[in-house]
Amino acid sequence: MQMNITYLSESRSACEKEDVTDPLRNWQDAFNLPQDLIYLDGNSLGAMPKKALEQLEQTIRNEWAEDLITSWNKAGWWKLPETLGELIAPVVGAASGQVIISDSTSLNIYKSIHAALGLRQKRTVVISEADSFPTNLYIMDGVATTRKNIQRRLLGKDGNTLDELLDDQVAVVSFSHINYRTGEILPIAELVQQTHDAGALFVLDTCHSAGVLPVELDQWGVDFAVGCTYKYLNGGPGSPAFIYVAKRHQKEAVNPLSGWWGHARPFEFEENFHAAEGIRRFQTGTQPILSLRGLQAGLEIAQEVDLPQVRKKSQRLTQLFIKLIESGCRNYGVTLQSPTDHDKRGSQVTLHFENGFAVIQALIARKIIADFREPGSMRFGFAPLYLRYTDVWDAAEALEDVLKTEEWKEERFRQKHEVT
Ligand SMILES: *Cc1c(COP(=O)(O)O)cnc(C)c1O
Repeated sequence: MQMNITYLSESRSACEKEDVTDPLRNWQDAFNLPQDLIYLDGNSLGAMPKKALEQLEQTIRNEWAEDLITSWNKAGWWKLPETLGELIAPVVGAASGQVIISDSTSLNIYKSIHAALGLRQKRTVVISEADSFPTNLYIMDGVATTRKNIQRRLLGKDGNTLDELLDDQVAVVSFSHINYRTGEILPIAELVQQTHDAGALFVLDTCHSAGVLPVELDQWGVDFAVGCTYKYLNGGPGSPAFIYVAKRHQKEAVNPLSGWWGHARPFEFEENFHAAEGIRRFQTGTQPILSLRGLQAGLEIAQEVDLPQVRKKSQRLTQLFIKLIESGCRNYGVTLQSPTDHDKRGSQVTLHFENGFAVIQALIARKIIADFREPGSMRFGFAPLYLRYTDVWDAAEALEDVLKTEEWKEERFRQKHEVT
């Protein structure tokens, strides 16, 4: 369904008006962002909720410094992965008891694919996307080394549609909801249906969708899902990820990383592993409590916001940016890598430019933060809770200026750091 984008700003003052009437404008105040910075990287590391600082401080001063080990019970540390999982559940369309916060996305992909293969013992094929975020493929290969004869088939390489790749040997299909490079959204409900029709299971990666657009894990019939919390959920650098296991699989699904936190009776210290009931069995070991506390504020915000409204603003911000780039930067060899149809586009705009790395460095020097992914992809993320329409205007204008003046050619913008 094409949503009608009724109004796109023609001038900076029109953008100012948009900011004043923006129904999400009050959320900006919930975040700590330097005044003179335009932050277009919320797709990689979300901004800091002001409340996170308070919660962390209280955890460190009271729970850690004063109450020490008693905080495992008294402050609810032990249950925190479940408590926070319950906060995330409605944000990704999951009923209670199916989501837990634990470990990293990479580890949760491992657990999910391994468990899904275990539920389809006789089959040997795993399908993913050629243009997956690399860790998803690396981890899939790692899982393959633990079993016999696993083969991978990649969408975009071994076939161009899921249908072409499916047959009765396929055990698992593992896709990302939104492509990390281009921002393209996949029609998950449809793909899950095709996967199930072929007798396979579906593992969904929601890293680039959780918190910024409606996700309906239960409704779409997804079997396993994972997602980052430090991107649009604003959980802080390296905040633990989440894993979703559909209720119907929880009894049979085996967590290959069977640590004591997933044990039915962890404090009995038994010799053998007995998996806990329900989603708890997908934990492994002791969790980083400070990082979990840092994440809480971001999840509380995600709980409260109206996601369809966030989605609408996200579409308008990206549409505005594309329109400004098309009129201002067309002559400099920049091309759009993201879908032009805003119903197929996540909350980012990717532009291709061969010397994109240097262009991004020049923008960062102007306090406009975006990032770069090889080869030639300049990524601009639009987090609707703290971005203004005027920010989009100013960023587009700066980009045009950097290209027009060829400022990016300066030597200082060519130096590569470890993180791009
Ligand atoms: C960000 C991202 C990850 C990150 O995984 P980590 O284990 O947190 O490093 C994985 N997959 C996708 C698709 C991502 O976008």
